Amino acid sequence: MRIGIDLDDTICRTSEMVHEKMDEYSAKTNRDVLEIMSNELIREQFFDEYLPIIYKEVVIKHDVKDVIRRLRNKGNEIYIITGRKQSQIPNIMEITDKWLEDNGIEFDGLFTSAYGDTKADVCKREHIDLMVDDNPYNYKTIVGNGGKCLLFDDRDKYDLRQDYVTSWLAAEEYINKFRG
Ligand SMILES: [Mg+2]
Repeated sequence: MRIGIDLDDTICRTSEMVHEKMDEYSAKTNRDVLEIMSNELIREQFFDEYLPIIYKEVVIKHDVKDVIRRLRNKGNEIYIITGRKQSQIPNIMEITDKWLEDNGIEFDGLFTSAYGDTKADVCKREHIDLMVDDNPYNYKTIVGNGGKCLLFDDRDKYDLRQDYVTSWLAAEEYINKFRG
């Protein structure tokens, strides 16, 4: 089976890292977080300065490395499909590739959906049997495009009753039972 897996907030704790760095930036610049977020220019300055650091330092989620290794050992192929953009950081794919390697994630391919494609398009083009993603918009468009998606929600943000898990061990159980 060809399994697609999103990166930010599915494999790694990106939002938590953004909040942490935002607090740091807020203390450094003497601006409160609300002001940073609501002012487009300041927000852009923050992301320009911190996004490369965030993508390098972001922390991997529990169990995901082992689950992916076990899934590959069973003959599944793992494709990391991210929406990260080159326009945000010039060498974003190199940073991402290195992060995956440094964190022991074994995978068969790395794709970005940032250049006019949606994740649903990438899933179709790459014949992905099942995509795992934390974003309900991606869930909706992938399923709407005839694909299958498992919504990964370990921060309890949504309330979907099916195709929904809150941990990587639960995701492993779901994938092992998945029959398309
Ligand atoms: Mg995500």
